[in-house]
Amino acid sequence: MQPNPKMLLLTLVLMLLLALGLAVVFFGSGGAQSANAIGAPTESPAAQVAANAPKQAAPIAPAGVKKGRVVILGFDGVEPTIVDTMLDAGELPNLAKLRDTGSYARLTSAIPPQSPSAWSSFATCKNTGAHGIYDFITRDPSRYGPRKGFGSSEHAKLGPDGAVTEPAKFVSLRKGDSFWKIADQQGLKCAALLVPFAFPAEDLAQGCMLCGLGVTDIRGTDSTYFSFSESHAAPENVAGGILLPLSFTDNVASVTIPGARNPLKPYGSPEGFVQVPLEFTVDRGAKKVSIKTPAETLELAENEWSKWIEWSFEVSPKFTVKAISRFYAMEAGDQVNVYMACLQFHPKAPYIRLSTPETYSSELMDKYGLFKTIGWSFDTHAVRKDALSDDAFLEDVANSMTWNERLTVDEMDRNVHDMVIAAWTGPDRVSHMFWRFRDQKHPLYTEAGAKQYGRAVENTYKAMDGTVGKVMAKLAPDDLLMILSDHGFKSFRKGLNVNTWLVRNGFLNVVGQTDPATAYTTKDQSFLSGFDWTKSRAYSLGLGSIFINMKGREGQGIVSAEDADALAGEIRQKLLAFTDPETGEKLFDAIYTKEVFTGAASADAPDLQLGYADGFQSSKATVSGSAPEALLEINDDKWSGEHGSSDVANTPGIFFSNKKINTEKPGIIDLGVTALHYLGAAVPTDLEGKPLL
Ligand SMILES: [Zn+2]
Repeated sequence: MQPNPKMLLLTLVLMLLLALGLAVVFFGSGGAQSANAIGAPTESPAAQVAANAPKQAAPIAPAGVKKGRVVILGFDGVEPTIVDTMLDAGELPNLAKLRDTGSYARLTSAIPPQSPSAWSSFATCKNTGAHGIYDFITRDPSRYGPRKGFGSSEHAKLGPDGAVTEPAKFVSLRKGDSFWKIADQQGLKCAALLVPFAFPAEDLAQGCMLCGLGVTDIRGTDSTYFSFSESHAAPENVAGGILLPLSFTDNVASVTIPGARNPLKPYGSPEGFVQVPLEFTVDRGAKKVSIKTPAETLELAENEWSKWIEWSFEVSPKFTVKAISRFYAMEAGDQVNVYMACLQFHPKAPYIRLSTPETYSSELMDKYGLFKTIGWSFDTHAVRKDALSDDAFLEDVANSMTWNERLTVDEMDRNVHDMVIAAWTGPDRVSHMFWRFRDQKHPLYTEAGAKQYGRAVENTYKAMDGTVGKVMAKLAPDDLLMILSDHGFKSFRKGLNVNTWLVRNGFLNVVGQTDPATAYTTKDQSFLSGFDWTKSRAYSLGLGSIFINMKGREGQGIVSAEDADALAGEIRQKLLAFTDPETGEKLFDAIYTKEVFTGAASADAPDLQLGYADGFQSSKATVSGSAPEALLEINDDKWSGEHGSSDVANTPGIFFSNKKINTEKPGIIDLGVTALHYLGAAVPTDLEGKPLL
């Protein structure tokens, strides 16, 4: 596209101003684009480029002419080989149309091809080293402690009188603005709907945003479900959930649930979370249970989801936290077993702001009624623990995908946006949980399971194709449609205990154990406890990271910076040569050194990033920094599909467009840049992606 001279001049002025560190203030009305002029070429809002440019931003490349509206649909974790098969079988007619008349390609993901890193690369158009989101979990090198890899939530702070002095917040670790914010700063109106790992909601001068994956529950966790059952012996906290026993007298059982955090009380004390009563009454003959919450009483039959219910947790006379949740009756006969979804933000009064404008979530509730707000929107934790059935899970996925489709299509119908970006996590979650029934070599594979659920993943792809069709019907000829998945999928049959491998090879030392051939950490020694750092040279935490115990960086580092590269190289070579003793299969397709990470956050990069071959991943114990006895573990978890530390080269996502693109190898960092170009917007030069058309 040809830059016009006026534009170029303004850009140069802007660059100069930015170089001088001057903030430029712009007073004006909305964008130069006419909201209704979809598809009509429009002058780029040049003045606003200068006026609304991000502070300390890189220089901005010249803008061009708006060619039309942009729509981007993101489907988390869609595997290209399955898409190929379904395209060939005629099962994805709308995507086939795009392939035949526009483009279809493999999409290069981020390193590692994990949702946090990949979606952050999508948003910022930069490699992982620039935005700094490497993994779901990472470490604080000074104390070898775990840290959430993409950000953390902080509960509200209260004064002595119980009034809020500081509201709850989520602090993202991502460096760099999203491309929709960059577009917004140039007067373009964007809707960003449920894009993963784009929380908290960004300030947009126009347009709207609803946060998705990354939004916590009111307890500050990714998602904490409640399971009420006669088979639970005692209250117990498990991964992702709380089990509470039901004891019936005359068919009535009472429990209390710990709800919102009371920051005035110690975390571990009974008062640390506001307790609220619940009462269950069972009609075993009719297989029905009635549940009395403080707000209402509802009737629920076996295998049925309840409607949404509202909660109010009075933390203090001056502070009440509102939440929503719903129930699913797993059993209501001889046994009573009821699941309750996590206590998630109330759209009318979210614990932490989850939309832009702030009132947007409330407006959505006025329009659609109560809706799911938890970012981890499908309860994989509960399915893994049998607290929620496979069928209930899949029913929830199907309904949620439909709701998200409606939201997206409705936003397009409003005809006010220059760009609509929407994302779905259903395909990813179903793949994680149901890969066991599509890989005959998976330890949990059964013929019966394959018959019943062998096409669970395909069903989400069909839903995706249906959504694509509805969106295509709304496009004007000049509108650009791009569809992506952030990464593909692999089977997870065996997990490598990476720390155990490091111990066996003399790189990591367990306190008090001198023989590396037999040393291991015990179950209660998680999160890098139990290692002797004065004798350890490397360790692993998270889905696929290895860190050198570096002098001056790690709290008790012993490896000098000069020796670190050679050590990383030695570990890399040895791991690449490592094969499964049982089958002879190689575990790794690639292992990346930290040079692949460039930019503002590269100092935080792992020293080695593992790239597993199909079938292998880091074990769960590795993720949490332990070194169990066995080197390799069979994965008998329903969490049976993975991609988190697969080799990026073998885990591409998909890319479709209604336009022909200029490369066979698009990357996840390219879509935002392409969108900005198409909208005639200026592109900051530190964005690494290339325009695809
Ligand atoms: Zn993903």
